[in-house]
Amino acid sequence: MVPGVRLVVLGKQGAGKGTQCERLSHHYVVPHVSTGDMLRGAVKSGSGLGQKVKEIMDRGELLGDDLIMEMVTHRLSEPDARARGFILDGCPRTTNQAGLLAALLSPLDLDLAVDIDVPTAQVLKRLASRRVCVDCGHNYSVQKPPRTNWICDVCGGEVIQREDDQEDAIARRLELYEEETAPLISWYTERDQLAKVNGLGDPDVVLRRIIRVIEERRGQGRAR
Ligand code: AMP
Repeated sequence: MVPGVRLVVLGKQGAGKGTQCERLSHHYVVPHVSTGDMLRGAVKSGSGLGQKVKEIMDRGELLGDDLIMEMVTHRLSEPDARARGFILDGCPRTTNQAGLLAALLSPLDLDLAVDIDVPTAQVLKRLASRRVCVDCGHNYSVQKPPRTNWICDVCGGEVIQREDDQEDAIARRLELYEEETAPLISWYTERDQLAKVNGLGDPDVVLRRIIRVIEERRGQGRAR
């Protein structure tokens, strides 16, 4: 039997979080819980929540912790996540969210918070060329487009450049990352829950690096 996992994946926008989370979700057979994807889904559906958050998201600003944690609490209480765990992508974004997440999971704990590390110059290049499916969120790039005319290979949806991948919003999101999200690295390091993984190179190689640190950590847990 494949063991599940409870994982937080951190990293700058464009570090390859989405791609790796999708793969990890298949590998460990646990849901990929992306707050960004959930919010984009709400915007697309035109729901009250979607209308409320669209303008803030388009500017690249962060939404309130309460709203985010309500959404995450709801998703993690579903049977798939309760039974096998989750790959959490895009949350926590602040140390306050990290504390609320720990309280939500208690008495269980995360297996690990993985920081996918890519230098800023590299993520800027990746973000400018990133394209994404509006329906399923699968990632492409200008260098690696879908097979047919910006139609998603996975689900047939339209593949576009995200509003918040435009130059001004990218700059703002990276600034916010430094201000609010980088402290999470210290937060998880202090709790001995952080593993930094080199995010440069072929996505298959990066995936193997991530799986290796997760399995090493589980091995240490068993040895304790
Ligand atoms: P992402 O796809 O993770 O880059 O998220 C897209 C946008 O959704 C962010 O720029 C924020 O506006 C919002 N968002 C997603 N997750 C969070 C979170 N944990 N806290 C606050 N805002 C969030």
